[in-house]
Amino acid sequence: MRKESKKVIEMQSKIHSLIYPNQNGNQLFIMREDLLPFSLGGNKVRIGQEFFDDMTEQGCDCMLVYGNSRSNLCRVLANLCWTKGVPCFMISSREENEERIETNNSRLMRWLGAEVIPCEKDQIAETVEETMLRLRKQGYRPYYIYGSKFGTGNEGVPVGAYVKAYQEICEYEAERGIHFDYIFFPSGTGATQSGLVGGHLLRKDCRKIIGVMISSREKERAERIIWEGIESYFQKNRLPLKSEDRAQIHLLDQYKAGGYGKYNQEILNQIREEFCRNGIPMDPTYTGKAFWGMKNYLKEKEIRDSNILFIHTGGTPLFYDNLGNEG
Ligand SMILES: *Cc1c(COP(=O)(O)O)cnc(C)c1O
Repeated sequence: MRKESKKVIEMQSKIHSLIYPNQNGNQLFIMREDLLPFSLGGNKVRIGQEFFDDMTEQGCDCMLVYGNSRSNLCRVLANLCWTKGVPCFMISSREENEERIETNNSRLMRWLGAEVIPCEKDQIAETVEETMLRLRKQGYRPYYIYGSKFGTGNEGVPVGAYVKAYQEICEYEAERGIHFDYIFFPSGTGATQSGLVGGHLLRKDCRKIIGVMISSREKERAERIIWEGIESYFQKNRLPLKSEDRAQIHLLDQYKAGGYGKYNQEILNQIREEFCRNGIPMDPTYTGKAFWGMKNYLKEKEIRDSNILFIHTGGTPLFYDNLGNEG
């Protein structure tokens, strides 16, 4: 059984309806993960907390992250570590380091003071291994968020975040006597989607959970990674899983707009409209792109008279990075 570990953050995000004219009888709702009360919010608050709890459960006392300082996950993890007085180290591939693009996240990362360990893109495993050794020699019990030096073994940990969030969605439905026919959200590494689909499989309820791909990752590969996340979580928690459950993974790959971080004028217009109409901050890499994809999909598939939930996965610093960009 999993231990209930102490939470530093009270998770519970707000779901509310969106104001929209003539959507073919569809009612749009939004789940404001961007308002989770820590480090500017976002899905990485839940995911980061899962990693942090796992680190504690493993009896480790220092955090090793792979990523870059512009990432929402690195910001949240470095922030959690600072809060708890846990040293945080970040391996960053040199290629990305050299871009040296300042963003709101990278500025916050400087405040948070995680030690950056540069490495070559083809030397990640070696660098993880060396760093773990060095930290052990220094007397630490380091925790690498992705598991082995090859980045495997820990897939089930972040998945727990959205299995739990899925329960919150179901509780909201029960309270309000409402049923969401569709859930849409931006899908990147797939951890969020693995969790939502995992929660859906456990509940055995009826709806379509659709991830809008925001990076150039191939659809088949993305699907496999999402499935592996689900398998890993179910195994870890000794839950039954059938191979046909894989059919519950739905991904849209037609709204990538050129790949990670790329966008078009329609996405920028959408972001502006969404702020004006509903007062919601979106960014062109994740939420703005996925919201735009969702709206196109609803139109193209002529979906009508449905309750549709969009999960706002956060990225508030990215909203400000983009502010003033009229395209
Ligand atoms: C990381 C991230 C995503 C993607 O979530 P995954 O679990 O990686 O698929 C979506 N939106 C925002 C704002 C993110 O930071």
